[in-house]
Amino acid sequence: MLTIVMYHYVRDIAGSPYPGIRGRTLGEFDGQLEYLSRHYVHVSLQDVMDAAGGRMTLPENAYHLTFDDGLSDHYRNVFPRLRERGIPASFYPPTQSALNSVVLEVHKIQFLLSVITDYGALANEIFSMAAAYRSEYEFPSEAGLRAQFVNIRSRFDPPEVVLVKRLLQTGLPGPVRTGVIGELFALHVTTDEAAFAHELYMTMEDMREMYKSGMEFGGHGYRHARMHGMKLDEQEFEIKKSRELMRMLHGREQPWVMNYPFGSYDEETVRLAQKYHAILGLTTKAELVHGFDRPLELERLDTNDLPLSGDAPISRWTAQVLV
Ligand SMILES: [Zn+2]
Repeated sequence: MLTIVMYHYVRDIAGSPYPGIRGRTLGEFDGQLEYLSRHYVHVSLQDVMDAAGGRMTLPENAYHLTFDDGLSDHYRNVFPRLRERGIPASFYPPTQSALNSVVLEVHKIQFLLSVITDYGALANEIFSMAAAYRSEYEFPSEAGLRAQFVNIRSRFDPPEVVLVKRLLQTGLPGPVRTGVIGELFALHVTTDEAAFAHELYMTMEDMREMYKSGMEFGGHGYRHARMHGMKLDEQEFEIKKSRELMRMLHGREQPWVMNYPFGSYDEETVRLAQKYHAILGLTTKAELVHGFDRPLELERLDTNDLPLSGDAPISRWTAQVLV
C-alpha cells in the first residue's frame, strides 16, 4: 500500500499579492509534515519505481509527496523544509514554463480567478471576447456552452467557477481560448508576463540544486494541456517534451515518471508514455495505491485529503494503512 500526495501552491497566501490563490499555507504544510511523520514512513520516487519493478517492497504506511507545476513555492518554501527533515519528494515542472518566460494558461486562469470577485460578470466578459472569433472559428452558441457545463460538479469549485474554468480549459476552440485568456490576463492581472513567470516558476538552476540534494523530478507535459482525447501527434509532442526536460535535468537518459496534467489521459497517453520510457504515470484519482499492476495509472490523494496538524485525529485514509 502506498499513499501518494499531490501539492500545488505552498505559500504564505494571506501575505501574498494574490490572497485568492488556493493552496497550502506554510503552517498547514508544516502541520501535514508533522502528521505524516507520526503515522507514515516516507519513500523516494526511486523506491516507488523499484517497488513497481518488483525490486523492493514498500511498508504498508509508505508515503511519497509530489509537487506539480514547477512553482517557485517549491524551491523557496518546500525544498528547505523537506531537506531539513530528510524527506525525499518529487517535482513535476511543465517543460514550456521551465524553459521559457511564459505563464502557462492553467496559471493565467488561476490568477485571473484569484483577482475576480464576480464570476458571472467574468463569464459574460469571456462570451463577449469570444464572439470576436466567431468569423474565424466555429463553436457552440453562448446558451449551448452554458447548457453544456451547467451540470458538472467539482470537488472544490462552485458552479460559476466551473463554467469559467471549463470555457477557458476546454469549452472554446484552442486558439480562441488562448486569445481570450491572454486578453483577460493582461486586463486583470498583468501586462508583464515575463516578470510574472519569473516570480511564479522555479528556474532550471533551482531544479538542478534540488536534484543534487536528492529531490527527484518527473514530466508534466509541455504546455500543461489535457491529454485525454488530444490528437496523437500533439500527445506525442507533449510526452517527448516531458522526456526532454528530464534528460536535461538528469544529464542522461533514464527511466522517468509522467504526471498527467489535470490528471487527464487516455490509452494513447499511456502507450506513448511507455514508448518514451516512462515507467510510472501519476493521475489525480483520489485513492491509495493498492498495487502496481497498472503502473502508468497511479492514484494520488490531494493535500486537502490530509489533516493539517500533527495531533489531528487520524483520517479515513490513514486508518486504511495503519496495521
Ligand atoms: Zn499541473
